[in-house]
Amino acid sequence: KSGARLYLQQRSHVTFKDVAGLDEVKEELLEIVEYLRNPKKFAKIGGKVPRGVLLVGPPGTGKTLVARAVAGEAGVAFFSISASQFIEMFVGVGASRVRDLFNTAKKSAPSIIFIDELDAVGRSRGTGLGGGNDEREQTLNQLLSEMDGFESHEEVIVMSATNRPDVLDTALLRPGRFDRQVVLGRPDWRAREAILEVHTRRMPLAEDADLRVIARATPGMCGADLENLANEAALLAAREDAEQVAMIHFEKAKDRVLLGAERKLVLTD
Ligand code: ATP
Repeated sequence: KSGARLYLQQRSHVTFKDVAGLDEVKEELLEIVEYLRNPKKFAKIGGKVPRGVLLVGPPGTGKTLVARAVAGEAGVAFFSISASQFIEMFVGVGASRVRDLFNTAKKSAPSIIFIDELDAVGRSRGTGLGGGNDEREQTLNQLLSEMDGFESHEEVIVMSATNRPDVLDTALLRPGRFDRQVVLGRPDWRAREAILEVHTRRMPLAEDADLRVIARATPGMCGADLENLANEAALLAAREDAEQVAMIHFEKAKDRVLLGAERKLVLTD
């Protein structure tokens, strides 16, 4: 028995509507959505759809969200795992987990496999300092061989994410593997406004709550920070028994989010 399944299988209810400010990214991924919706059509015409897509961008910029949205738009099963989970415990387990994950996804095809933190297994081989290194290399080798081993009728797209594309083993990026890269940048103010709109859409906003002003005043914040900001603002409003979320709540929330971010910086230094 392989024990508990680590990866998460789910139907995704996230769609492109939930992804704000990444129009080019969505545009690039539309082809994959269309393929997954109707793989037979693509097969008939003989078009070659990328097997692997690498999402590149800083933390919190929506890589996981986008992968989920592709699954949601296409209405296919979504299997996600963080690459660090492949190699946590026992020697030899990583490779068999990779095999297990790919086999399961194939059974549910059309489907998407999403591997977060690809760099955890995907760093260049032969540069580690021993210890767990063999385990990692075995896991990486298994991943490479799974990517090569697909038959054309196996309708599985493998998406992965990293914020360190520079450390990846180049073998991962060869044709037929993660040969398509999609870059997610930090949002500009227009994108930040759109992200705030998404995360406040179910909130009663006061007349004075101007999302554009907030967006302009939050340079450097990523999608995850802005989601956090909107939630904090709503919590502050609720705590004051306010009926609506007002500008003052966003302002206080911003201080909190920034303080939280500072604390994180200090801790990771
Ligand atoms: P990490 O590298 O830390 O895994 P990530 O790039 O995968 O980060 P997500 O986990 O997708 O980031 O983002 C975290 C949350 O932030 C999302 O669930 C979403 O609620 C919000 N978010 C991020 N980017 C966007 C966006 N462009 N539009 C709307 N919400 C966003």
